[in-house]
Amino acid sequence: MRVSTRRRTLAIAAICAALSAPLGAAQADVLFENVTLIDGTGNQPLAGASVLVKGDQIDVVSAGPIKHDRGVQVVDGKGKFLMPGLIDSHVHIGANKITDANSAEQHLWGVQALQSYIYTGVTSIYDSGNVADYMFKLRDEERAGKFLSPRVFASGTTVGAPTGYGATPRAMQVIEWDKAKPVLEAYFRDRKPDLQKIVIDRHNFPIDNLTKVVRLANEYGIRTTVHATAEEDYNDALAAHVDEFAHQIRSEVSAPMVRLLATRKIPMSTTAAVFGYIERIGDDASFLDQPLWKNAVNADIITAQKGPERQRYIESGMSANFKKTNHIALGNAKKLHDAGAVLAAGTDRGWGPALHMELELLHGAGISLLDITRIATLNNAIYLGRENDLGSIQRGKLADLLLLNADPTKDVKNFQAIAAVYKGGEKVDMTKLDIPANKK
Ligand SMILES: [Zn+2]
Repeated sequence: MRVSTRRRTLAIAAICAALSAPLGAAQADVLFENVTLIDGTGNQPLAGASVLVKGDQIDVVSAGPIKHDRGVQVVDGKGKFLMPGLIDSHVHIGANKITDANSAEQHLWGVQALQSYIYTGVTSIYDSGNVADYMFKLRDEERAGKFLSPRVFASGTTVGAPTGYGATPRAMQVIEWDKAKPVLEAYFRDRKPDLQKIVIDRHNFPIDNLTKVVRLANEYGIRTTVHATAEEDYNDALAAHVDEFAHQIRSEVSAPMVRLLATRKIPMSTTAAVFGYIERIGDDASFLDQPLWKNAVNADIITAQKGPERQRYIESGMSANFKKTNHIALGNAKKLHDAGAVLAAGTDRGWGPALHMELELLHGAGISLLDITRIATLNNAIYLGRENDLGSIQRGKLADLLLLNADPTKDVKNFQAIAAVYKGGEKVDMTKLDIPANKK
């Protein structure tokens, strides 16, 4: 009886796997042995460590060997480095240009973009504003295990004011609170954004209304992140008690603001990559020929980026402009980090390789690689309000892991030396990703 039930279960499991799921089949426990552990908290790397994963969770973390049962899948970690999967706290899947949420082509681009992240070691992303129907469909499908993907967290529609940056017709505009409130309530209740993005721009959003939006979102258990790049907007956002910042200040940050952010410890997505990318592509687009980009990103998108997108960045003056200001924002990052403020690695781009560019830029600003391992993992989990189950290698957390062939605390390029990626304890089969690397 037992045997036949088990056979039946296996048969059903096989059918289910064949029908759809790249994820979700019963998985063996996994033991990483003799690995150098970089736990994501900023602790020094620990050689000779072991990590036991049971189901989708980290069960034991040990400085030495762990006794294990038969049936455990052992991964020899000799010469390898185990860290939490990377997280990008500011992306826009589909580059925010989605016109038809139901178009098969745009949906495919979304899947390919998500897969470019998992290929480059990113196990969670937060989409910081998009077409809600488009993004929430991708989120639903990711959670249902329909395709291989990092964990998807999303805002969907942004909240904005009728003027200033971000005043798109798509945004939920707050003019009169009594009229805006039921719209926001319905959105929070029905669409369940993981984190609500709010766009403010040079005092265009009265603090009183901003405070009410933040409070309402928080009542629904939703944290808020605010687009702000000027110190005056940071002040408004802090007065309204927002939970995170979606960008850094682009002009020289004042000493009182450094102290305030170090004290309040509100995570800030770093987003140096969007500005650095636009600067770099204006000078020379050949970085897009690097294997990381070529293997991960749809070739048509690379061609468009090198052609019309590059022209747009140059002709609009963005490339030249950002070239003048990027070092200021990176200097702010270093100053804030040294003072004890919380940086969270984010790119404001839509492809996995951009996060590696972000890590390079942060390191170039003088932030240590060990600190960057935390900025790209645990600090981002804090940004998402998910630090209880993501962002570090600690007992009880989800086993989203990155196994590297080289030490990322020695060279920033070593974040790219990916031996394997695990999501929820399951090794990602990179050969199943819809990326150029698999189409050669
Ligand atoms: Zn953005």
